[in-house]
Amino acid sequence: MNACPRAWAMSYGTAAHGWRAGNAPETTPPRTFDQLLTRTMRAVWMKRLEDQYHRKIWSTTYAKQTLDAAVDDAMDVVNMSVPRVHLDIGKERSKAQLRSLEQTQTLRPLFTGQPRRWAYFDRRMSATIGGVEVYAAPDVAVFHQHRWTLVRVQFRSSQGSMLSQQLEHLLMIHWAMNQPGLPNDFEAYNIKVVRWSSQRWKEHSVDVSEALLSQSMALMHHDIQEMLWLRRWAGADPSYASLPLAAHHEHCTSCPFRPECPARDGLAKAKHDQKRTIAGSHYNEPTKSAKTA
Ligand code: SF4
Repeated sequence: MNACPRAWAMSYGTAAHGWRAGNAPETTPPRTFDQLLTRTMRAVWMKRLEDQYHRKIWSTTYAKQTLDAAVDDAMDVVNMSVPRVHLDIGKERSKAQLRSLEQTQTLRPLFTGQPRRWAYFDRRMSATIGGVEVYAAPDVAVFHQHRWTLVRVQFRSSQGSMLSQQLEHLLMIHWAMNQPGLPNDFEAYNIKVVRWSSQRWKEHSVDVSEALLSQSMALMHHDIQEMLWLRRWAGADPSYASLPLAAHHEHCTSCPFRPECPARDGLAKAKHDQKRTIAGSHYNEPTKSAKTA
């Protein structure tokens, strides 16, 4: 939402559902091949985790067939087609990305039989925190040395400031403390983020403290206020023409709404045009009133 209020409104503004904070599940169909691959990798990863949890071992052939079939099915569902060579490269890269995910320091113990208590979660699992439905489930929780490590897996690098991303990751602890069977003491948790960046998985820990947890809660409440404000704005201007555009042109690169967005030919120009239109409409307003008074 902070990255681009217009994109947020296009995704969620008109949907008839409650407010969602944290990583709300995607509800719109994938608009680009990369988005489709990302979502398919996540779905296959969930299946892989579920089978691993139940000690069902995947052979290399089975892993390959599962990903290939999942991509083909996803393409059929949204009626998407790409040149054969792109399709093959996309599948191969996705398989390599999934294979290397199992080799990360954070997740390797789950696949090499090291003794760990662990659990996996679906991001569609929400928790009600302070009356708000929060989607902040970790992908995996691993118990080791008397603490739970909550793991967030990001198949594509997310944008936004480091601080706001860290505070969002901390919502996982609020989420966990509101789950039956998990401790409600924040000191029982660590956080690890495993994210895909520059063609490899990078892993880092997130600092946990009472003060940071309070900040993450405050950020969540602030975001809810922003959502309420944005929803009112979108309701008052169903064309979305006056809604703020992306904070940075990088957000537009992979935006699914770009084809119908004023920023399709450049964000700077779109912002300039929008400013001029809004200034013009404000200027004309009293004139019209004066004429009709
Ligand atoms: S193309 Fe850019 S400005 Fe337009 S909705 Fe997408 S992110 Fe926002």
